[in-house]
Amino acid sequence: MTKHALLVAGLLALVLKPAFGQEKIFDSHVHLWHGEASIREYEAQLASAHQQVAGFGAMWFGGPNQALAGKIEETRANNDALIALSEKHPGMLPIATAHPYDGQAAISELERVASRGIKVLKLHPHTQKFDAADPRVLALVRRAGDLGVIVLMDNASIVPDDCEKLFNLALSSPKTRFIFAHMGGLNFRFWNILALARTAQNFFADNIYFDISATTVIAAGSPIQSEFVWTIRNVGVDHVLLGSDYPQLSLPQTLAAFEKLDLTSEEKAKIRYDNARRLFGLK
Ligand SMILES: [Zn+2]
Repeated sequence: MTKHALLVAGLLALVLKPAFGQEKIFDSHVHLWHGEASIREYEAQLASAHQQVAGFGAMWFGGPNQALAGKIEETRANNDALIALSEKHPGMLPIATAHPYDGQAAISELERVASRGIKVLKLHPHTQKFDAADPRVLALVRRAGDLGVIVLMDNASIVPDDCEKLFNLALSSPKTRFIFAHMGGLNFRFWNILALARTAQNFFADNIYFDISATTVIAAGSPIQSEFVWTIRNVGVDHVLLGSDYPQLSLPQTLAAFEKLDLTSEEKAKIRYDNARRLFGLK
């Protein structure tokens, strides 16, 4: 092929790319503050941006239902409502919750929702007001590991020693797979420790995944963007998921930021969808 023909072919590929359809996306971090109304709002926002998703992980939190300790009846009702919604909305992955300080009642609730098909449990040290280093947290997440339930925990570094506590929780519960949401927020640099943790013998079970919701929006186009990309590679591109943290941030806004990151198209495809497909066992 001549130089000219190559150039034409290249331009053609650029022009044709959108016509072949969008890249597949799974949004792993969506809050339904107002139940089904939130799903409609989320879908309307995507429609107006001509954006499609293959699916999304949906949780409460942030609205009237904080799943605080001592409110196990409410927690149960919210988990059931979420499961019911997911039955009506194909592509929705329901993410249940429990409060670790409810002890055995929380473990029983985890077992109950796991038997109803729940694959992910969300815990939020800040919103739910618990200490991630408390032994009741370890007991709950270990049980999740036994049941094959993935534990999604907020990791925006808005509580003291957030990353350190979560890292040690993951080390203490090697059979549990964790997703740490926001990858440490602006403390994401901490997680480069995983590159070293993998070099220590019988230390780290490689059971930590991250979603890069919110942090992507703040890091893209910033002076720390290249450090953020370096961190994604050090924690392992295979361990990183895309998420929006709707409604605080939108998926179109997140994707625009994500596109600015200097990752290869293969790496981006893994983060947009493939890693979620493998981790959550999506069809
Ligand atoms: Zn969130």
